Parts: sequence; C-alpha cells; structure tokens
Amino acid sequence: MGLPPLDRSTLWPFEDGEPGEFYYQRYAHPTGVAAERALGELDGGTALLFSSGAGATTAVVLALLEPGDTIAVAEGCYYGTPTLFRELERWGLRHVEFDQTGPPPDGVQLVWLEAPSNPFLTMPDLEAAAAHPAPVLVDATAATPVHLRPLEHGADLVLHSATKYLSGHSDVLLGAVVCREPATAERLREFRSRSGIVAAPDPAWLLLRGLKTLDLRVRRQTETATELARHLEAHPRVEVVRYPGFGGLLSFDVTADATQVETSTSLITNATSLGGVNSTIETRHRWEGDRVPKNLLRLSVGLEDVEELWADLERALAG
Ligand code: PLP
Repeated sequence: MGLPPLDRSTLWPFEDGEPGEFYYQRYAHPTGVAAERALGELDGGTALLFSSGAGATTAVVLALLEPGDTIAVAEGCYYGTPTLFRELERWGLRHVEFDQTGPPPDGVQLVWLEAPSNPFLTMPDLEAAAAHPAPVLVDATAATPVHLRPLEHGADLVLHSATKYLSGHSDVLLGAVVCREPATAERLREFRSRSGIVAAPDPAWLLLRGLKTLDLRVRRQTETATELARHLEAHPRVEVVRYPGFGGLLSFDVTADATQVETSTSLITNATSLGGVNSTIETRHRWEGDRVPKNLLRLSVGLEDVEELWADLERALAG
C-alpha cells in the first residue's frame, strides 16, 4: 500500500454548517491521524504526535502532573530530559533521579524510564516499575517497537523522539507518546491542541514513510552494532563497551584521546543525534559535563557495511 497524499491545509470546510473530522490543523490533520494510527499499531496503544521528543515530554508532564508532584527519572537517561524538568521546577515540578535497574522510590507521582538509556545503555527493571503505584512512562526512543513494546510490560505511556529511528533519515524533528488508556490520550490531545505543541503534516508524512522500513533498518543496525561491540571489546584502546545486545546505539570508553578519535573517522560522521541511516559518533562530555566520562564516545550505527565501519573505527582508534 502506498502512502496517503500529503494534505498541508490548515483548514477544511465545515459540513452543513458544522465542523467535520478535520477543520483546523492545530486540532488534527489527516496525515497526522494516519501516522498516529500506524505508530499506535506498532506500540499497541493510542499514539499522539508532537513537534519533537522534548515537546512530547513537556506535554506529558504539564498535562498529566500537578505543581508539587515529583517524577522519579532514570539516572543517566537522555540529559535533555532532566534539564527540561529543572526548567519546570519554577512551576512547582520536582524530580529525583534513581537507578532504573532497581525499583523506583516511593512517594513519586510519575516514573520515567529509558530503554535503553542514552548514553549509558542500561535497561530498566520494567517489572519493578510496573509494581509501583505511580504511572510509568518508558522513553523507548533507542529500543523502538521492533525490540520493545513497553505497554505489554505494564507501562502506561511510551515516549519516542521520532526524530531518531522511527523517522530514520535525520531529516525530521518529531515526538510521539503512545498511551495505554484512551482517556490519557484524550487529555494529552486536549493539552496539545491548546498548547500548540503539534506536529505539522510534513513531518508526519515522513514518519509514515520511515515506518515502512523501520523493521528492516533496525534489524540491520542491530546486527552491525552487535558485531562492532564485539570488535570494540577486544580492542586494546577500549576500556568499556556499553551495548544492551539490541538496537543501533552503543557507547564505549577509550584510553586514547576521545576527541582525537571522534575527529578521525571518515565514513562515520562526527555529529550529534542518533537513529539515522548514516553512522554518527561523538563525545558526550561536551554536552553533559561530568555526568559522563570524558573518554566516552557514543556511536549510532547506520546502514553502512560493517567491515567498512570497523575499518574506519580501527583507523581512528590507532590515532
Ligand atoms: N529522548 C531521547 C532518548 C533522546 O535521545 C532525545 C534526543 O536526543 C529526546 C528524547 C528528545 O527528542 P527531540 O530531539 O526529538 O526533541
């Protein structure tokens, strides 16, 4: 089946003097609804698109929490998430970090996990989190529904930076939340329309196109990343390799100068972000400071030939 036509309209005529399914783009548009249906099927819930992953995070906490509420957030998760929570402290939002490989702390109103965490690649204890009385959100950006469907493991919400693997070609900024409960989705939809943290038709259409190859891309990235992780573990200039055994994201610490390594690759681009068809590498210390080791390199594996990727890394590590 082909893709639906891209409809960029911001308005649709009323029908017999009444608004129909679509009437103003901020409320809903056909391409967005089609993309949400496709993603909802993949994750097994009701999906909603937002203007970015960070926009989705903002919408979840502002729509579903109250001032004074506390989020238990996975230690070592995407640094932008706790940075955003700090920004929202002025509005009465609190957060505590915890080790997601164990049970979440008591007395919190939302549990925020990341599967696997970026860039430490730890996996949450989903069973322990599901036993907690608070709702559980899993940021499954790096796992994708190909490897993990958190709603099947007791999570209430799944968040994706669809900018990454779901869209897959490093040309879309997009976020998504998939809800177990239709009533939660309804509340988020209402907040999204009011706040305007919406995804436009073009990114939604590119997501639909990206989803057509998601399974193929992620499986190939997993194969390649597994092999690269094996090679890196055996390399004398590599101290630690963090790889959960699936997905295209890994990180490793080098005894060599990490900046020298990231600037010495040629096939692999020295750039931020992840989840695209082209491999990228970067040190994370420049963004995250002492939260990460200075010698940690994060590698997002693309679709290039594995032997060529390893040759590129080996050359860079030889410095
Ligand atoms: N969650 C994770 C795990 C991420 O890696 C990112 C971005 O890197 C985000 C959320 C934020 O997504 P976006 O950049 O689409 O706003």
